[in-house]
Amino acid sequence: MNQIEIQHLNKNYGALQVLHDISLDIPVGAFVALVGPSGCGKSTLLRTIAGLETITSGTIKVAGEVVNDKAPRERDLAMVFQSYALYPHMTVEQNMSYSLRLRRRPKAEIDERVGEAARILGLEKLLKRRPKQLSGGQRQRVAMGRAIVRKPKVFLFDEPLSNLDAALRVQMRSEIRKLHKNLGATSVYVTHDQIEAMTMADLIVVLHDGRIEQIGRPLDLYRRPANRFVAGFIGSPA
Ligand code: ADP
Ligand code: MG
Repeated sequence: MNQIEIQHLNKNYGALQVLHDISLDIPVGAFVALVGPSGCGKSTLLRTIAGLETITSGTIKVAGEVVNDKAPRERDLAMVFQSYALYPHMTVEQNMSYSLRLRRRPKAEIDERVGEAARILGLEKLLKRRPKQLSGGQRQRVAMGRAIVRKPKVFLFDEPLSNLDAALRVQMRSEIRKLHKNLGATSVYVTHDQIEAMTMADLIVVLHDGRIEQIGRPLDLYRRPANRFVAGFIGSPA
C-alpha cells in the first residue's frame, strides 16, 4: 500500500519547466529522502505534494485519493521548514497549538496534544518562551512540535537541519527518525546532504534538473548507481 503516489507530474513556472515527468510511489511508513543539488526542484516537488504549488499536469494521490485540487489544509500532512517559520510574537505553546486553534479543536484536546508533543520533544519547560529566547535546536523542536500536534499521516521536511551546527544535526537526525517511527508516519525528507540521506532514509530519490535519476535503497544506490551523476552525488566509486 502506498501513502503517496505521484504520476507523470510536470511543473512549470511560466516558460521554465522545473519538474519533468515525475512518477514516484511512497509506501506507507517509509522514510524517503529527496536529494539533489541546489535548484534541481526538491522544494518544488515537496511543495506540490503539500498543495502549496499548483501542478501543470499529472496526478498526486495521498492515501489513494487524488489531491490535485485540494487545499493544503485539506491534505493530511504537515510540513517542517528549514527556516522554522515560527511566529515570533507567539509563545512556544501558542506556536504549537496554532493549527489546532485554527481548526477550532476543543481546548482540552489542544492542551492534551500540545502537552504530549512537548513531552515527546523535551519542551515542557519552554512552553511560555518566545522563539527569540530559544536556541536553534530548541526552535527546530518547536517547529516539529507544531507539525506533530495534528498527528498527520505524512510529514514533509524541507532541509530542516541545515541551520544547525554539525553536532546538533547528528542528534536531530536520530530524533526525527525516532519521531517518524513512533508516530507511524510516512515522511518525505528533502536534503542536499548525502550523509543525511544515507543514514536516515529507507529509500532515496535522486533528482537532477527536475528529473528523477534513480530511486533505491541507500546501499543499492551506493553499490549500483544508475549513472555517473548518481555515483558522484552519493559518493560511491563508479
Ligand atoms: P531546490 O529545492 O532543489 O534547491 P527549487 O525547487 O527551489 O530547488 O527550485 C527549482 C527551480 O525552480 C530553480 O530553477 C528555481 O529557480 C525555480 N523556482 C523555484 N521557485 C520558483 C518560483 N516561485 N518562480 C519561478 N521559479 C522558481
Ligand atoms: Mg530547496
